[in-house]
Amino acid sequence: MSSAPADRGAATERAEALRREIAHHDYRYYALDAPEISDAAYDSLVRELREIEEAWPELVTPDSPTQRVGVAPTATFAPVAHSQRMYSLDNAMDLDELDAWLARVRDAVGERECGFVCELKIDGSSLALVYEDGALVRAATRGDGRTGEDVTANVRTIRDVPLRLRWDASDSAPARVEVRGEVYMPKASFERLNEAQEEAGQPPFANPRNAAAGAVRQKDPAVTASRDLATFLYQVVDVRPLGLTRQSDALEWLRAAGFRVNPDVVTCASAEEVRAYCASAVEKRDDLPYEIDGVVVKVDSFALQEELGYTSKSPRWAIAFKFPPEEKTTVLREIRVQVGRTGALTPLAEFDPVTVAGSTIARATLHNSDEVRRKDVRIGDTIVVRKAGDVIPEVVGPVIGMREPGAPEWRMPAECPSCGGPVWRPEGEVVSRCTNVGCPAQRLERLGHWAGRGAMDIDGMGAEIITRLVERDLVHDVADFYLLDEATLAALDMGRLKKDGSPVVLGPVVAAKLVATIDASRTRPLARVLFGLGIRHVGSTVAEVLAAEFGSLDGLMDAAALEPPRAGENGLTIAAALAADPIARVEGVGPTIAASIRAFFGNPDNCALVERLRERGVRLAEERSEPARPQTLDGLTFVLTGALERFTRDEAGAALKELGAKVAGSVSKKTSFVIAGEDAGSKYDKALALGVPVLGEDDLVRILESGEPPAPAG
Ligand code: NAD
Repeated sequence: MSSAPADRGAATERAEALRREIAHHDYRYYALDAPEISDAAYDSLVRELREIEEAWPELVTPDSPTQRVGVAPTATFAPVAHSQRMYSLDNAMDLDELDAWLARVRDAVGERECGFVCELKIDGSSLALVYEDGALVRAATRGDGRTGEDVTANVRTIRDVPLRLRWDASDSAPARVEVRGEVYMPKASFERLNEAQEEAGQPPFANPRNAAAGAVRQKDPAVTASRDLATFLYQVVDVRPLGLTRQSDALEWLRAAGFRVNPDVVTCASAEEVRAYCASAVEKRDDLPYEIDGVVVKVDSFALQEELGYTSKSPRWAIAFKFPPEEKTTVLREIRVQVGRTGALTPLAEFDPVTVAGSTIARATLHNSDEVRRKDVRIGDTIVVRKAGDVIPEVVGPVIGMREPGAPEWRMPAECPSCGGPVWRPEGEVVSRCTNVGCPAQRLERLGHWAGRGAMDIDGMGAEIITRLVERDLVHDVADFYLLDEATLAALDMGRLKKDGSPVVLGPVVAAKLVATIDASRTRPLARVLFGLGIRHVGSTVAEVLAAEFGSLDGLMDAAALEPPRAGENGLTIAAALAADPIARVEGVGPTIAASIRAFFGNPDNCALVERLRERGVRLAEERSEPARPQTLDGLTFVLTGALERFTRDEAGAALKELGAKVAGSVSKKTSFVIAGEDAGSKYDKALALGVPVLGEDDLVRILESGEPPAPAG
């Protein structure tokens, strides 16, 4: 999917802005070894430029970063003209692009056999080494591909770079040989280096690749020597005099000549094997002691390589399969403010859809106005986005250089975007709130929360139906759900029209289901009711604790009605005040939550709501008395041992208790039955010794389903 603008003027403008920005990052990266943005974000900018240039080929300029390699060498080092150009590599950003490359190679090669060599793509900096009569005479960086920098003195300090080639006595060293490869910094060395930088009050290096490139380009070779660099060589430049015909042979030659060659190289006979290797390489990544950012796939035969040739920037016979990027760039279109159930206003970034780590994202929360200010994102900005923990979309920040001049800073609106009510940000808090309790957006959120999974679980009562119910004045608060009947729901106008122009209504089938689930929600456990009320700070865990402690909503409300004892009054210490507060003293609750509960029930509207819920048949207490199922296992004691497949032991125990059974932890003469799962241990042996009947998991399922006690042993 190309994101290139459809109009030429817009395309020209965007391409120019991208080129300027990319040139800036190239300089930071190649000349200063100090990038400001991640490689993935950089690649995303280049990709956008390439898409524009593909859609508008006349816009391609010779100095476009899509046409060039690296940057020209700096004046610090003597320039070195490369005997043959040092190319970059074309990228395949996913398996589809890899397939497209494989197909292009296949087309060019036709019926001839074509093997591939897959090598790890070492994330370092490229290096060219020249040996004359077996001795290292020059080392150069890639520079812009034609001219590099002479870094011989520095490279001599890298321990694994042979100063002389290894030759069998029978062989004679070629007069001149040039080899190329990657110089890199192992992950552990990189960490040590950054710790040292920090101790010395110096800025840390962005990544091992830039640290390696920086270390090679030091003025003082002693500094390079202290940086713990290593190399992997992968190319012999002039292969003919050595009689080499394949990349796989060249790697062998390099190894024999004394160079370090990466051991993770595979030769693949088919495209399938290449694909499988690329797909599996991602998993290796974290376990390697050095960074890799992909796999380089090369056509093995030098004759075929020569036929395939080069583009202006890279060989056609090789491709870099890059690991899925965790970051992309896109354009921020809007910062929308969402109103939460408690009136909290959350800015939400809405941007042009992009695929990140395998899925398309178009929005991400910006949390609060401080966060927007800290990240300094403005509408219209090109922004970097990623998935935090590979799941939650996140805005990393803006690409400042691409900002439209005069783009205004974003501000939290002074009025609620839903109801126009005043927005208030309590001192010391980061969250701004709409203070209007009647705010429709808050109401929708509260209703949705009550019907949601963790609360009353009214399956099918989603945002759309709730919105319609509120619009039609059928529901004002959560207690109104319990007044809805099938006829009213069946006729609910969904605000859409059918093809024949008649309004879409909910219909009798959905209405009947909904009424049944609403009815079922009347008897949800107390903790869910408490959670569903949406008291600030009362999440599902706190709700469980409160339900267990107070047993009923009335119990909690009675405790909330008591004036909390205050530390300092009557010589009360903080600890004593806490201990005397029936709510705050509950483990996991504390004074902040207690205050929030008191504030909630201190509001007469909320107490009236509780009364309406009670009148409409919602159970507001733990179910203690009337058992739901007949107590057919009354008087029987079960012991559970071993691992069950379909339940945890706790679940199985709870299910047996529901039928009136006792569940004990150890086997005795009083045990009626032992239920043994996999790997049952001493309890099983004891049951046998005492003659207690032992049942299996299937028997347990039968008992629970039928409610029938097991047949007595005999
Ligand atoms: P590249 O690093 O993507 O790929 C080409 C290089 O891969 C070769 O030059 C070689 O040095 C290396 N390589 C590693 N293992 C290899 C192997 N087994 N066989 C052959 N080559 C191997 O391309 P590039 O032109 O060097 O640099 C582009 C990269 O630099 C991109 O990833 C880009 O994100 C990054 N970059 C980042 C910024 C930034 O600001 N963050 C700026 C400029 C460039």
